Amino acid sequence: MTIHHLNCGTLHPPSQLLVNGRGSLTAPATLVCHCLVVQTGKYWTLVDAGLGSADLRNPRDRLGDTFLRRVRPALNPAEPAITQVQALGIDTHDVRSIVLTHHDVDHVGGIADFPWASVYASRAQMDLIIPALRKDMVRRLHPVQWSHAPQWKPVTLSETWRSRPSFRLNDSLSLVALDGHIEGHCAVVIDRENKPPLIHAGDAVMDVKTELFGGRAPLGLRAFQHMTRTDARAWRESRAWLKECVEDGIDVICAHEPHPRLSGAR
Ligand SMILES: [Zn+2]
Repeated sequence: MTIHHLNCGTLHPPSQLLVNGRGSLTAPATLVCHCLVVQTGKYWTLVDAGLGSADLRNPRDRLGDTFLRRVRPALNPAEPAITQVQALGIDTHDVRSIVLTHHDVDHVGGIADFPWASVYASRAQMDLIIPALRKDMVRRLHPVQWSHAPQWKPVTLSETWRSRPSFRLNDSLSLVALDGHIEGHCAVVIDRENKPPLIHAGDAVMDVKTELFGGRAPLGLRAFQHMTRTDARAWRESRAWLKECVEDGIDVICAHEPHPRLSGAR
């Protein structure tokens, strides 16, 4: 199995020290939008979609002033998933599926570059936007990013993986409930041959190396988590569950940590 790790959107929020935990208080920090391109049989699946090419062309309408002001995306034309998939020599039409942890603007923008792909997310997450955007999500989620009418595939989490609701999408990929950041937020679990699974934890944690290894995330990331989470108790439970996964040797990455280390011993 081949897994490519992509950064589909460099972000530069204020303060290296407060966000990256080291460096200058006043210099800009660096975060990423970590996406995966996973070979699933003959085809490929994109895990989270980052910022897409339309977001770069029209950032104010698609990403919104608040996002632009708070996290100051680099808007680098080399970063959308479609550009990186082409650079890897993969036929973009072979990306048949996209699996989203959730629909925040920095996770969903790239789906418009793959209009032929089926887009999977939990039914609870899809319920926020289908048939229409739920009113309390108007400030947070941006329907212009899915105005191309994607092939939504809401997923009912009718199974269980390590005691959490889940659904296996194919031989190697599962969605697993990881609540707290936003309703219906999920992890994507990738089963690998001869290795422990890899979990893409989305925004359930922001800094694996501290949050899942007995430390505390830098203050700026903690403030961001506090501002954006919709259920504090569920968020704490999700993080505790991820800690157990790490203790059992499972590799965990999250969406925005730059230079992630795979957490397991392998
Ligand atoms: Zn995010």
